[in-house]
Amino acid sequence: MTPTSSPPLADLAVIRHFIDGRYVESPRPLFDNRDPATGKVVAQVHEADAAIVAHAVDAARRALQGPWATLSGQARAKVLRRLADGIRDRFDEFVAAEIRDTGKPASLASHLDIPRGAANFEVFADQIAASATEAFRSDTPDGRGALNYGLRTPRGVIAVICPWNLPLLLMTWKVAPALAFGNTVVVKPSEETPSTTTLLGEVMRDAGVPDGVFNVVHGFGPDSAGQYLTEHPDVDAITFTGETRTGTAIMQAAAVGVRPVSFELGGKNAGIVFADCDLDAAVAGIARSAFLNSGQVCLGTERVYVERPVFEAFVSRLKTAAEALVPGDPWAESTSFGPLISSRHRDKVLGYYARALDDGATVVTGGGVPQLPDALAGGYWVQPTIWTGLPEDSAVIREEIFGPCCHVAPFDREDEAIARANASPYGLATTIWTGDLTRAHRVAAAIEVGVAWVNCWFLRDLRTAFGGARQSGIGREGGVHGLEFYTELRNVCIKL
Ligand code: NAD
Repeated sequence: MTPTSSPPLADLAVIRHFIDGRYVESPRPLFDNRDPATGKVVAQVHEADAAIVAHAVDAARRALQGPWATLSGQARAKVLRRLADGIRDRFDEFVAAEIRDTGKPASLASHLDIPRGAANFEVFADQIAASATEAFRSDTPDGRGALNYGLRTPRGVIAVICPWNLPLLLMTWKVAPALAFGNTVVVKPSEETPSTTTLLGEVMRDAGVPDGVFNVVHGFGPDSAGQYLTEHPDVDAITFTGETRTGTAIMQAAAVGVRPVSFELGGKNAGIVFADCDLDAAVAGIARSAFLNSGQVCLGTERVYVERPVFEAFVSRLKTAAEALVPGDPWAESTSFGPLISSRHRDKVLGYYARALDDGATVVTGGGVPQLPDALAGGYWVQPTIWTGLPEDSAVIREEIFGPCCHVAPFDREDEAIARANASPYGLATTIWTGDLTRAHRVAAAIEVGVAWVNCWFLRDLRTAFGGARQSGIGREGGVHGLEFYTELRNVCIKL
């Protein structure tokens, strides 16, 4: 069900850090949190200095010695299920907090962000029960043999650094496996979206998570919470979702102390539409992949290659789909399209809209800022935009824009489509549309990405591996794959 009005969020008017089971303040001046739909300040946020970050890391380290460390996997699984229930019990509050931070439509927050935030805890509760290690019986010269077996132990204190596009969903995607496997965490949500992570502190407390296991510090990246956290020597591992450039800076910080990283980074994903596909399904799928969450999805499709016989029909139908999107008040039932996250991000996206014109694009639809009622005029809105006719070396084709836009180009041969899709430093995801099963397997194997979807997009089974190839990430999370990052694997060898 989609809620149609916001419950009061008075407790989130001033947003504090959550450390060692309590909400705490810090001496730095507070910073503004704005509603992207209106541009109005809706909350003030405490910014962590180095001392607050050290306090959070210390709490997380101490909690590793407390009851959390000795809980059985089954008992931790029970706590994780209580966390999922706790989010669902306060569903409307979480939806409202996410909408206030992002401006996204209530239909999206209530059908994607918050349900997935809860589901992440359940999936990793199941995972604890299912995880196993290897065992080998070895020969020895005396004939008695030896038994080797794997023993998994928590990594320790995990720093979790999050982006703003799917705040609760992406944060819990990392916090849930970290806690499931016995670690403690210090989370730094994006400065743009501090609210749902803060609310989760209350849910943790109510679910009986011991103090210090889940900690939250607010602030920015450089010279702020992000940098202090990744540079803190008592952090054992860093998991990060965000831009590739930020990943480079975090990797440099992690190099000191040789600490492991798990990175989910940027993308410039290609969709490929073959003439033998179900064209209605392909148009709907590509429209969703280009415009969902106003294009602010790492898996989104900004480059579309369409086989020439259906190119004109595809572009015309995609235009109709883009023009059917309705921007507006996030709480209105009719709204299907939200603003961008910030004025800075809007300027960046509009910069690419201008660049497309300079590079000779034909604007099929959009390309500017929509007309909206006065109440929303201060928000960070742009139009859903489709281009054709750009050369492949245009920055619009090569760089991640992270806005509601895509370029559509025709192709003639399968190998040409594959080569153009692969001509990118990124390798996060692709979406392939075809009625030919053999071709589906062939193309999915040939595109160098972490996730290949065929005749669908963003269809996730949370037990499967998730991550990016090339500059789109390091490592895989999801299901058992997260075990490699969230645990240490020790081999025990017993002489028999
Ligand atoms: P960002 O890299 O600007 O910021 C992400 C987080 O890193 C924020 O919390 C920020 O404060 C922090 N940060 C920034 N500089 C830092 C530093 N030097 N040290 C430590 N922390 C620092 O990314 P964003 O703009 O919030 O998110 C959009 C980006 O995230 C896009 O590139 C998108 O593709 C990517 N993304 C990837 C995935 C994925 O699964 N691969 C998912 C969502 C978003």
